[in-house]
Amino acid sequence: MNKFSKKSQSPVYLSLSNEEWEEKLQVSRKLASPCILCGRRCCAMRFKMYTNTENIDNIEMCTNTENIDNIEMYANAENIDNIQTIDIEPNKNIDTKNIDKNTKNIDKTKNNGTTRNNGTTKQNNATTYTQNNTSSSAQNNTMTNMQNTENTAENITENITQPPISSMGSSKESPIGICKTRDKAIVASWGPHFGEEPPLVGKRGSGTIFFSGCNLKCIFCQNYDIAHFHLGQEVSDEKLCEIMLELQELGCHNVNLVSPTHVVPNILAAVRLAAKQGLRIPLVYNTGGYDSLETIRLLEGVVDIYMPDMKYGDPEPAKDFSKADNYPEINFAAVKEMHRQVGDLVIGEDNVAISGLLVRHLVLPGGLAGTKKIMEFIANNISKNTYVNIMAQYRPYYKAIGHPQLGRRIRASEYREALKIAADAGLTRIQAF
Ligand code: SF4
Repeated sequence: MNKFSKKSQSPVYLSLSNEEWEEKLQVSRKLASPCILCGRRCCAMRFKMYTNTENIDNIEMCTNTENIDNIEMYANAENIDNIQTIDIEPNKNIDTKNIDKNTKNIDKTKNNGTTRNNGTTKQNNATTYTQNNTSSSAQNNTMTNMQNTENTAENITENITQPPISSMGSSKESPIGICKTRDKAIVASWGPHFGEEPPLVGKRGSGTIFFSGCNLKCIFCQNYDIAHFHLGQEVSDEKLCEIMLELQELGCHNVNLVSPTHVVPNILAAVRLAAKQGLRIPLVYNTGGYDSLETIRLLEGVVDIYMPDMKYGDPEPAKDFSKADNYPEINFAAVKEMHRQVGDLVIGEDNVAISGLLVRHLVLPGGLAGTKKIMEFIANNISKNTYVNIMAQYRPYYKAIGHPQLGRRIRASEYREALKIAADAGLTRIQAF
């Protein structure tokens, strides 16, 4: 046993008292109305009961709209009807007249598909929501089919479909932000996943729950069908609790919450219920790293393992490729707070992570990810023993196909250079994945 390993440990959320849970739930809803859950602080009204609360003093920040590309939605709630057309590339093959907008025909089906996450594609028994009420060509456009196609511009375009109408939210009264989520979480799929980092996967897989919608707008997103087109289905907090318990029953080593930032209030409610009903595996907060400091502070004592991306070291590419020029500032502060709470990654007897911080950094073509700034920040401000996965699997997806800077894979020399930068910064736990 070395200094990064431990025999066992109960998940931290089991130590919270009823009062602490109550407070967290209250605060989470306040943070979401007006919403400051993520770095955009766009002040969408996510939970009606908390509008006009003391949180309204954050409203000053909402007058700064530079960060928001669809601010007209907030100014005029009537425009909400137009949301369905934002960012949607029409699919000629779909007979849209036959798409039933009624949510009741959404069907939950089991499939043995693959789930993409950060470029890895491995076999996975996921439960995926698909629509069975579209025309036959649209039916073929399930997430599974999209994942099994070759990565070519032609195929990607062919397989882009309308987002499920039901996933755009149930109420027309409250404007929503870029994450396109209101008071309920939207889930795209869940199941044991074997494409994550080895300390999360172990022998029985990481229990991923893929949330639809995202607070970032990365033009190279590999999960664009979920993140931008909102494939999935709204679920109640009780259903989310059931999913967590199901993952535990399947033997997963952890509950891995993928893109969780915008649904933190729902996650808290579901974990509280699940803990009462026997959830005993660690929680992994698998985030794009654009979380407000308030959100991360709220998660203290709930999350066991933080797995943030550190995508950009500089504001310019963050602005150009993810519409978030304050990403580095928000991200660095959030990751520092994560480490303050949970420390370095600790691995258990079975080589599976128990707690701590695991950072992901995707190397982009042409040094656009700002690897040097990020690695030096980690080494100098967090810990040289931070577990850092430096990822080589960048591929141009979505709007990056044909892009002048992002339209190619990285070169071997660029990846070697990124590893060298990390080592030169003094980092000691580097995973080349
Ligand atoms: S994008 Fe979503 S999570 Fe972020 S502040 Fe706006 S409503 Fe909240």
